[in-house]
Amino acid sequence: MNAERFADRRRRALEAAEEAGLAGLLVTPGADLAYLAGYAPLPLERLTLLGLSSGRDPFLVVPALERPAAEAVPGVEGLELIDWRDGQSPYETVAGLIRAGRFAITDQTWSSHLLALGQATEDCMFVAVGRALPLLRAVKDPEELELLRAAGQAADATFADVVDLAFAGRRESDVAGDLDRLLRERGHDRVDFTIVGSGPNAASPHHEAGERTIEAGDAVVMDFGGVRQGYCSDITRTVFVGEPDEEKRNVYEVVSAAQQAAFEAVRPGALAQDVDRAARAVITEAGYGERFVHRTGHGIGLEVHEPPYIVEGDETVLLQGMTFSDEPGIYLPRRFGVRIEDQVAVTAEGAERLNGASREVTVVS
Ligand code: ZN
Ligand code: ZN
Ligand code: ZN
Repeated sequence: MNAERFADRRRRALEAAEEAGLAGLLVTPGADLAYLAGYAPLPLERLTLLGLSSGRDPFLVVPALERPAAEAVPGVEGLELIDWRDGQSPYETVAGLIRAGRFAITDQTWSSHLLALGQATEDCMFVAVGRALPLLRAVKDPEELELLRAAGQAADATFADVVDLAFAGRRESDVAGDLDRLLRERGHDRVDFTIVGSGPNAASPHHEAGERTIEAGDAVVMDFGGVRQGYCSDITRTVFVGEPDEEKRNVYEVVSAAQQAAFEAVRPGALAQDVDRAARAVITEAGYGERFVHRTGHGIGLEVHEPPYIVEGDETVLLQGMTFSDEPGIYLPRRFGVRIEDQVAVTAEGAERLNGASREVTVVS
């Protein structure tokens, strides 16, 4: 992406901040900085901070030893670069660049940085970006959608490959290792999670793959994803080791119908909570309402969990280009569980699935 794209994002971000009554936006390393400058350094005890402040040009404060790396980033072009040396206070530097007022600051800014900024500035107040500007990165542009599709397709291909492998007689951690390897083979730069919950472990939504040996008759929930070219994948499929019994098949069909109902509720103008309600209604109607123990979904993009959240009480109006998960589940404690998760994008008239892996009942050996 070219420098102009990032400059445009910074202009829109400052406008949104001003509309929200803020004096600006202070951004430290993480997804917001990647979004606004294409710059992704590690968060460190040395302060790196992008400042978007009303009435002045945007600036980037960097440790002197990071300056060459920052200068090499295309998205940093056009930013006023201000470096500081060990022994100096970067907080005093920032304080001299901004005026009084309320600033949104990156959710993940270390408290050591935030507290020092509070001491160095006068009459500045800070509020989390996630609270003040939750939708800053929510509407994806066509290039971002393309990257999310590609990440989703890599996850789909991983699922298609893994179901050809043996499950019975191997440990959950073996299957998790396969998922990790396959995601990388399909172009992921990083793998963030490979949940494999088999048998009773499938009833624990965020079970860590462990030493349990998978057996015939198990349901196996696999929830895996990572990062490909900066953008996240996140998919869940539940498979059965041998033909599922009637109860398991029924629970699977209910979850599948709920997932479809949520998908059909997605369109511009609907509220985030409407999508949750659509999935929950199907599961409640089938008598499993108490066993659907989490929200229906979360936004996805540069971060695997980001606003909007598909949950009762989130009244975000869905807009074309927003992307989030559709992942209802039913969990029967100590017995089994089923979850089906796709990422979806809001289109002009409805929704598009960013995952295309089979949602049919899948039997593995
Ligand atoms: Zn999850
Ligand atoms: Zn997931
Ligand atoms: Zn998810």
